[in-house]
Amino acid sequence: MATQKADVVIVGVGAAGGIIAAELAKAGMKVIGLERGPKLSTASFQSLDELRYFQRQETRPHPKKQPVTWRANASVRATPIAQQNNGNQAGGGTVHYGTLSWRFHEDDFRVRSQTSERYGAKSIPEESSAIDWPISYADLEPYYDQAEREVGVSGKAGNIKGQKIEGGNIFEAPRDRDYPMPPLFVDQAGRIFEEGAKKLGLHPFASPRAIASEPYKGRAACTYCTFCQSFGCFVGAKGSIMVTKLPEAEASNNFTLITGAMVNKVNTDTAGKATGVTYWGIDGSENVVEADIVILGAFIYDNIRLLLLSKTAKHPDGLGNSTGHVGKHLMAHIGARAFSIYDDRHVNIFMGPSAQRHTIDDFNADNFDHKDLGFIRGAQISVSPADLAAGPIGAAGSLTPPPGTPRWGAAYRDFLSTYYTRFAAINAQTENLPYADQMIDLDPNVRDMYGLPAPRLTYDWRRPAESKRLAFMQQKLLEIGKAMGASKVWLGASSPGSPGAHHQGGARMGSDPRDSVVNSFGQTWDIPNLFVVGSATHPTMSGFNPTLTIEALAFRTAEAIATRYRKSPGPLV
Ligand SMILES: Cc1cc2nc3c(=O)[nH]c(=O)nc-3n(C[C@H](O)[C@H](O)[C@H](O)COP(=O)(O)OP(=O)(O)OC[C@H]3O[C@@H](n4cnc5c(N)ncnc54)[C@H](O)[C@@H]3O)c2cc1C
Repeated sequence: MATQKADVVIVGVGAAGGIIAAELAKAGMKVIGLERGPKLSTASFQSLDELRYFQRQETRPHPKKQPVTWRANASVRATPIAQQNNGNQAGGGTVHYGTLSWRFHEDDFRVRSQTSERYGAKSIPEESSAIDWPISYADLEPYYDQAEREVGVSGKAGNIKGQKIEGGNIFEAPRDRDYPMPPLFVDQAGRIFEEGAKKLGLHPFASPRAIASEPYKGRAACTYCTFCQSFGCFVGAKGSIMVTKLPEAEASNNFTLITGAMVNKVNTDTAGKATGVTYWGIDGSENVVEADIVILGAFIYDNIRLLLLSKTAKHPDGLGNSTGHVGKHLMAHIGARAFSIYDDRHVNIFMGPSAQRHTIDDFNADNFDHKDLGFIRGAQISVSPADLAAGPIGAAGSLTPPPGTPRWGAAYRDFLSTYYTRFAAINAQTENLPYADQMIDLDPNVRDMYGLPAPRLTYDWRRPAESKRLAFMQQKLLEIGKAMGASKVWLGASSPGSPGAHHQGGARMGSDPRDSVVNSFGQTWDIPNLFVVGSATHPTMSGFNPTLTIEALAFRTAEAIATRYRKSPGPLV
């Protein structure tokens, strides 16, 4: 058994952990990053290997070796989910992500207050456990700006200091300045989406993406190859943590990255303080890192699992769990999808970054009047290839034929050969509310290859308000598809209750230890030298993808540790 010492140990160096590693190491702290996956590079992805990265999803954890299970409710046995939402290499999910880089809206940070003020408290579903965030959009704005510049986001501002700008997202919260790079080129699907949405009086714009639209900080610009989501970028245009923050951390000489390191426990002393972590090395050895500060950046599954696995006499229900909130209030985006086909034109979807290309924000957040709709909050609506993950095999496989056309035989062949280059998918990504019984715990029946209990999700989105929200969005998708001039538009199937993308919650932040696990810096209320970072800390989720918010919060946490906690360890305010 080896024991190493550091000022800070970080579990998982993905979006959140990688940023904190770089910022603290640059500030002169000795940092060890423990990453269960390998260290890859831009060169690792030059094969554009669809089978490897799209079909087998090699950048994600293997569903049998490192399972995460799901059940709709407590009365049924959970089974492993096919595709996990996280990464499995240094850089985490940002290596293969779709790069959508959204700032949340002002009201995304105050769902309970905003809803109560505009529609009355009764319009919030009684069972929902939604709480306001302990910070506002304004608190996070400088860190959003920092994240956009450091990872390199392309886009067009829609609101600079309150001045609305046509062509950008006019619903966005005020920003101090524009994106560091102009938006990526608009593809054909984006153009017809834009035309259609404008006919309906909506406000389409090019989605902001962490992809260099021009050479940026020594990185090459995007080649529009489409091998983007599910793949690492073979020219390094994607602003992943692998090519942005980890090289900075390494250049500081204060950072040690240990790959193939599976952390299985947070260690605490008899007073209950965190002393470090235990991990299994790639050779099967058991090792310890002792550190003054322990930061869990292992995505929500392992963040929650580690808190629960590390229970002691002092913390009998797991770390950070003195008020019973660890694992609770889980949220996921649910996708509604419409397919549209065009007899009078081709739509080349096999060009350009793959995910959510052009967007409208008109039906997201509280950007529209919810009076008498029977639900609150909304969805981001965007156009993209048939499958949100790229690759021609995937796109063809996920182009669900219209009702009446079978998914086999000659009719399917004819449908595919006619419409393979004549379709666009329109997607709504709905914000779903937190509920205390949507949760992650330890699966008593399924273990991973290390012998640890699998993280188990108990979740079913099909609640009355959630179902109404989805049905409303499906109607909007059909309207937009028709306005786009489609010969035919039809809806894809919705998930049978299972969580969709971007899992959030489980160690939520709050202003009050009685209803949350961490404060706004991710510092656990119970153990001030134990931090949890990433989407587990989100009290509500927004209809937008979470990673830019995860990154902004990580910059904020790193700054607070480097400038304040380090001098005076204790609760941060
Ligand atoms: C296909 C796909 C597309 C996506 N597209 C977008 C998008 O367009 N926009 C967006 O905002 N978000 C997107 N996401 C989500 C995004 O990847 C995540 O929000 C983000 O990566 C989460 O950051 P994180 O730091 O919490 O976790 P991660 O980035 O997943 O990092 C966690 C790290 O911890 C490591 N780890 C886990 N457990 C342990 C352990 N026990 N010991 C040691 N190491 C451990 C993991 O290997 C991983 O490297 C996408 C996700 C997927 C799967």
